[in-house]
Amino acid sequence: MVATLYIDGAWKSASDGGAHDVHSPHNQSVVATVSQATQDDVLDAITAARTSFDSGIFTSWSFEQRSALVGKIADLLERDLKAIAKKESDDTGKRIIEAEYDIADVIATFRHFAALGLKQHDRLVDVGISRVNSRIVHEPLGVCSLIGPWNYPLLQIAWKVAPALVAGCSFIVKPSELTPQSAIALMHAIEEAGTPKGVANLVLGPGSVVGHHLINDPRVDMVSFTGGLNTGQTIMKAAVSTVKRLALELGGKNPHIIFADADIDAAIDNAVTAAFLHSGQVCSAGTRLIVERSIHDRVVKEIVRRAGQIRLGGPDDLTAETGPLISKSHLEGVTKYVEKGVAEGATLLVGGKRSEKSEHANGWYYLPTVLDNCNTKMFCVQDESFGPVMTVEVFDTEAQAIAIANDTPFGLSGGLWSKDADKAARVASALRHGTIWVNDFGPYKPAAEWGGYKQSGIGRELGEHGLGEYLEIKHIWTNNAPSKSGWFSDGGEG
Ligand code: NAD
Repeated sequence: MVATLYIDGAWKSASDGGAHDVHSPHNQSVVATVSQATQDDVLDAITAARTSFDSGIFTSWSFEQRSALVGKIADLLERDLKAIAKKESDDTGKRIIEAEYDIADVIATFRHFAALGLKQHDRLVDVGISRVNSRIVHEPLGVCSLIGPWNYPLLQIAWKVAPALVAGCSFIVKPSELTPQSAIALMHAIEEAGTPKGVANLVLGPGSVVGHHLINDPRVDMVSFTGGLNTGQTIMKAAVSTVKRLALELGGKNPHIIFADADIDAAIDNAVTAAFLHSGQVCSAGTRLIVERSIHDRVVKEIVRRAGQIRLGGPDDLTAETGPLISKSHLEGVTKYVEKGVAEGATLLVGGKRSEKSEHANGWYYLPTVLDNCNTKMFCVQDESFGPVMTVEVFDTEAQAIAIANDTPFGLSGGLWSKDADKAARVASALRHGTIWVNDFGPYKPAAEWGGYKQSGIGRELGEHGLGEYLEIKHIWTNNAPSKSGWFSDGGEG
């Protein structure tokens, strides 16, 4: 029986013996079999986290001690980088090289938070009264449910686990049921590094079953979630009854503006990467191209040519440039999305169907797709496909470009290309999105905050804020020369 749940410092199989197979998106082969937690297992994990937190077994560690632990976890992940990348590549179908980049980013995340924990966070406040010592101190928030998606499985979990550990929280991790293997590897590193029993727990299984208690249980103080908008809304509703703290990283439909005065060749090349990297399964994918009318034909013609020659392939295909979609149902969703776009008036220029190559027959391969003649009223412009689908809109003026790019319920990221530095600064400032790239698209660093405006989420991960999400702030006011307050009369003698 497989024992891949990590609860209260021990590896366990599901209480009913349940397990589930993980299938390769490349060829549907079984790449792993993992335990599938029952409701009882989830409740046990919450109990372990709550008990460990309330016991002070970890909260009593100093920030320096917890930073050292997180640094040690980074070392262990570095030692095992290739093995973990292989698991992640098996689960997601992405190329090994991409998975190795992702695990390197995971390690950088742990190192960032290890360093951040060494900074002084507490401070004295000058309240203007010499006898008073006023201090702001930071304390661990409590028990956290950390729920991740399948596109960057360990990276999105790392953005939560590393700050939670530095802060001194206890937690329960739930990766996507489609991609559980790298989270299991992380728990082994957390255990080996010497994390106290009960602080870190792992449950596996579908969100509808395993997620329920993680978001509803009153003993959970916070839910940090990365995933789709609908699930984020469900989590917000569940948080109401016990006023849980929420950190939500949700979807995006990210505008990518190219002005006529841009370095057009660089812009085109980056537009192709922004839309089709990881087959568009990127929350910050630049799938919404907004191009100045005078250069539309040149830009779109070249993007279509480049999209048409992108080589698709599985984890071990060294010639591949991107991989399959995660699942059959996701492939069906992207197919319908494109059909709907065409039905509402978009012009399909390339792609728009499943790959017909024989070597892709058992996998979920969808061709890079460009839909031209789009506008902000269309579903395919407003909604996220989370697949390799670029929509194209045109503009004539700077004000129009800004209005189009902001006409979306999302606000995760956006990019713009122009050689006019003043114009670029004006547009970057006017865009209502959490990250703006100027003459670039896609890079992020652990030291810089990440998160969304509007329906792309609540809160920020990474940067300094990313640690703050897991801390409570307490003000301690100490009067060193106590005296009567004198507010109410003491009534005198009679
Ligand atoms: P999803 O919402 O379907 O699932 C995410 C996680 O939530 C999974 O672990 C799932 O099991 C769990 N879940 C589902 N229903 C639940 C419930 N009722 N209670 C508790 N947990 C539940 O999302 P996905 O398909 O895995 O990921 C794709 C989405 O994630 C896209 O919308 C993408 O934009 C978004 N995403 C956002 C960011 C970001 O930084 N903003 C990063 C990566 C992905």
